[in-house]
Amino acid sequence: MENHFDKRLDPTKLVEGSKSVISLLYNYFPEETQKEGTYKVSKYAYGKDYHHVIKAKLKEMMYCLYEKIGNVEGRAFVDSAPVLEKAWAAKSGLGWIGKHSNLLSKQTGSFYFIAELILDLDLIPDTPVTDHCGSCTKCIDACPTDAIYEPYKVDGSKCISYFTIELKDDLPKGYQDKFEDWMFGCDICQDVCPWNRFSQPHNEPLFKPHPSLLAYDKKDWEDITKDVFNDIFRKSAVKRTKYEGLKRNINYIKEKDN
Ligand code: SF4
Ligand code: SF4
Repeated sequence: MENHFDKRLDPTKLVEGSKSVISLLYNYFPEETQKEGTYKVSKYAYGKDYHHVIKAKLKEMMYCLYEKIGNVEGRAFVDSAPVLEKAWAAKSGLGWIGKHSNLLSKQTGSFYFIAELILDLDLIPDTPVTDHCGSCTKCIDACPTDAIYEPYKVDGSKCISYFTIELKDDLPKGYQDKFEDWMFGCDICQDVCPWNRFSQPHNEPLFKPHPSLLAYDKKDWEDITKDVFNDIFRKSAVKRTKYEGLKRNINYIKEKDN
């Protein structure tokens, strides 16, 4: 987060002459989830890598804007540049940032990707919505690694998502029994959030998972070969962790049973 800090705070440093940030959400809540008792993949990574899916849609949207209003200068972003995307989305009233630090709304919950168009259009801004976390602490209570160390503050270095996706070294000792079978990412704090009871399945065919992702039990994952990994996760964000990374995570979780 410290990289490009000036650009994060000031979008005109990112897109010269920009006047507005348009925040957009794209639902990834799946109709069907993995079977009970298996190693789990975060729902956002079920289908084709969202960067590609959403980038294509943003390009289309930019094209529509050119067609409708003429010459519009700007750039499209999805989790790929120094943009404070949650803060912009909250400022524009798409939801509030919950105690688990994700953006969520009363109508739709939190299983959404966030994207932005930063444009030189002068637009009338929307206003933020109020925080509806109230006295709820479900996400804090459910986080197995205590990564949400106080409301609205997450220690990324203790988050299962970081351990299973970002960390390139060996996983730290003593967390084996805390992973709750998450082998790529972690949805616990979102799954327990009461506002996610309003989540509706997405209708994006490209986010549909490979059938094996839903069908595999623990044994299937433990026996997975590189070829099968490449087939199941061919275009998925899970490729980030590579076959070796996924195997490392599975073997680590298995240690608790030994
Ligand atoms: S994603 Fe999992 S580990 Fe990370 S803060 Fe949420 S519950 Fe905790
Ligand atoms: S679980 Fe409760 S405290 Fe956490 S984000 Fe949802 S409403 Fe807020």
